[in-house]
Amino acid sequence: MHGTLIGMNQRNMNDKNKGVLLKSIVTQGPMSRVKLSKLLGLSKMTITGIVNEYLAKGILQECGSASSTGGRKPMFLDVVPNSLLSLGVSIGRDVIQVGIINLKGEVIQSENLPFAPIVDGDAFLGSIFYLCDELLKHKLRSNIWGIGVSCAGPLSIQNGIILNPPDFNDIRDIHITKELHERYSLPTYLHNDMCTAALAEMYFGNTENYNSFAYIGISAGIGAGIIIDKKIYSGTMGLAGAIGHSTVERNGYPCECGQRGCLEKYSSTKAVLEWAKNNGAEDDITWFELVRRANKGDSICQKAIERMIDYLGVAINNMQMALDIECIFIGGDLYFFRDTVVNHIKDKLQSQSLAWSQRRRVKVEASSFMGNASFIGIAAMVMENNLTV
Ligand SMILES: [Zn+2]
Repeated sequence: MHGTLIGMNQRNMNDKNKGVLLKSIVTQGPMSRVKLSKLLGLSKMTITGIVNEYLAKGILQECGSASSTGGRKPMFLDVVPNSLLSLGVSIGRDVIQVGIINLKGEVIQSENLPFAPIVDGDAFLGSIFYLCDELLKHKLRSNIWGIGVSCAGPLSIQNGIILNPPDFNDIRDIHITKELHERYSLPTYLHNDMCTAALAEMYFGNTENYNSFAYIGISAGIGAGIIIDKKIYSGTMGLAGAIGHSTVERNGYPCECGQRGCLEKYSSTKAVLEWAKNNGAEDDITWFELVRRANKGDSICQKAIERMIDYLGVAINNMQMALDIECIFIGGDLYFFRDTVVNHIKDKLQSQSLAWSQRRRVKVEASSFMGNASFIGIAAMVMENNLTV
């Protein structure tokens, strides 16, 4: 009995080490066995054992060598991109996208359906099944090791339930992970779209130097995904990062959430459009057009964007004061205007915190992804779950 327990613990430890090793290579790029040993604090023998297992399964490959200061050059190890694939289901308010994503965050096939005609739970599940059935005809079907679903909240992440997101055609209480697991017999996970976007930055973006950072997505809504010590932080109710509902005006506009003065009422693309229309822009102006005109010097559109960034600055500053993270990535529907928005936010934060700037300087950077971070990040979510024992 006692011996069995020790055996179990050793096996768990080995599985944990295997997971951490693969995650290190995916998030930090190809590296040598020596570097892995130092990074993970594991003996060379343990590393060799795990690596050999992955090489035999075709999940890792050797790929050239590092420049060395003499002696034998160590071979680098990298993942075989299509050896483990995720089926990603991204549920947006405009479109449902299903695709196959590999270990490098590359989408190897993708299909989608518009959301608008889907009016009840049965049609909703039917559409997702239809897309998944199609994609699972792929010749690499046997390499798919999990399904991930990303969706706007509120969700019950633990129980895999889409609760009652606003503007969602009144579709609610969908046990999405149970339904997909029963149909396809693959491990299935659910997370909100901002968390998967943050995971995309951690696994496939330029974040190898950061332990703690946030991704902020700005579109018709605003939300954030928070990574603390290289792990997603969801909060006790899965609501961490709901900065769209942080207060930026104490007696401001009422919000659907029941509060007043929420950031989303000032800085979402929807709110900016509304403000511009109320202040002289045409009634049918689109977000893309507004951004284009602001870029060309139109004064109403520029004011609309400045006001948006002003309020964003307040919310981001509050978030940073609470979290003290290393970097904030800005993504969402900002198109070619992204760098301008990022620079404005940088200036604003710098001017707000001059006295603190030596000790408490947060970096602000544009997301590495052009609006598809939450979809790509589904592969990271599957990996994060499948590799954690
Ligand atoms: Zn609100």
